[in-house]
Amino acid sequence: LATTPGVKQSHLNKGTGRVPVGLGRRRMRVVVTGGAGFVGSHLVDKLLDRGDEVIVIDNFFTGRRDNVKHHFGNTRFELIRHDVVEPILLEVDQIYHLACPASPVHYKYNPVKTIKTNVMGTLNMLGLAKRIGARFLLTSTSEVYGDPLEHPQKETYWGHVNPIGVRSCYDEGKRTAETLTMDYHRGAEVEVRIARIFNTYGPRMCLDDGRVVSNFVAQAIRKQPLTVYGDGKQTRSFQFVSDLVDGLVALMESEHVGPFNLGNPGEFTMLELAQVVKETIDSSATIAFKPNTADDPHKRKPDISKAKELLNWEPKISLREGLPKMVSDFRNRILNEDEGKGN
Ligand code: NAD
Ligand code: UDP
Ligand code: UDP
Repeated sequence: LATTPGVKQSHLNKGTGRVPVGLGRRRMRVVVTGGAGFVGSHLVDKLLDRGDEVIVIDNFFTGRRDNVKHHFGNTRFELIRHDVVEPILLEVDQIYHLACPASPVHYKYNPVKTIKTNVMGTLNMLGLAKRIGARFLLTSTSEVYGDPLEHPQKETYWGHVNPIGVRSCYDEGKRTAETLTMDYHRGAEVEVRIARIFNTYGPRMCLDDGRVVSNFVAQAIRKQPLTVYGDGKQTRSFQFVSDLVDGLVALMESEHVGPFNLGNPGEFTMLELAQVVKETIDSSATIAFKPNTADDPHKRKPDISKAKELLNWEPKISLREGLPKMVSDFRNRILNEDEGKGN
């Protein structure tokens, strides 16, 4: 099997160099699966900024070339159209495994594909990590806690998930992905990291991906009513994307396997979120109540003491600070869409 020119085999077999970022840090070659998506593209920005070589693997199901087009022409950046359900041969130091639709609307669209992505996709990336001695980070989710009976959720909580419900392709898919990750760690000594990500928002989210923050922001800009599902008293905790990306990199560079909750503990009901969106974008926006979806978790709030203590990480950006940071990106894209329709 040929190795990629420029990557020393000694590095590959030892996994990452783990030299601290800064003076004398060795340039890493890093794969980001799902790197053309919302979170992945921000992670790619950070890795390229610090001088790494980045290979994005994406099948563009929910990702867009637009999200990474500012790196086209950068010789340290490569974009491969590939589905992680199929095997792939590469030579790298680190693998950030994000490929998987994250919005309930997207992951329910083709549930069998979602579970294949989580199981076969994660298996392939772990097989890759094992062969080349790379460090592997799984982006798991707070959804592994299901409709939680413990609040806030600590990493020690095993969750309350419906295994046969409409969300289970994602919840159980991610739970299996965590299992595979730990089994490759224990059985094949792959260096692994697990992040359990709580609801994250920011620029480059798909405009119509059905998630609540992107829905409310797009609706407020388009002068449409904000669609609150159910009574709007269910809660979520919203994290700005740059905080998450800092946490993912801190986890990858740390000596800890995890799992680690990465989220912002600021907890809001959907009605409170609607209020913050109104204050940020349009105080005259109205609310339209719609029926809620099946198995919707009633509450969600991370306990982040483990990440604070072991990764020295905590989110810095509150919802009120973060929301305005995604509004101009959404306004521009909605404007372009409207202009496109006129053509
Ligand atoms: P996203 O949908 O914007 O990005 C997912 C990316 O993966 C897209 O670019 C998509 O095209 C790609 N992809 C999907 N299936 C693929 C496949 N089979 N092969 C190759 N590429 C594939 O979602 P996101 O919000 O950026 O989420 C990224 C990761 O973080 C996901 O694994 C998600 O489960 C996890 N996560 C996100 C959140 C959040 O709130 N954003 C919360 C918890 C977990
Ligand atoms: N795999 C891959 N790239 C690699 C090595 C493995 O995509 O560089 C895939 C491989 O095709 C398999 C999976 O990862 O489907 C698990 O590989 P592993 O070697 O752990 O298991 P095995 O091939 O023995 O089933
Ligand atoms: N939600 C809502 N209006 C919307 C979209 C979602 O009230 O337009 C609610 C949804 O019922 C859930 C919460 O917002 O209670 C978060 O939903 P999202 O799809 O963003 O994330 P997840 O359910 O995966 O946490």
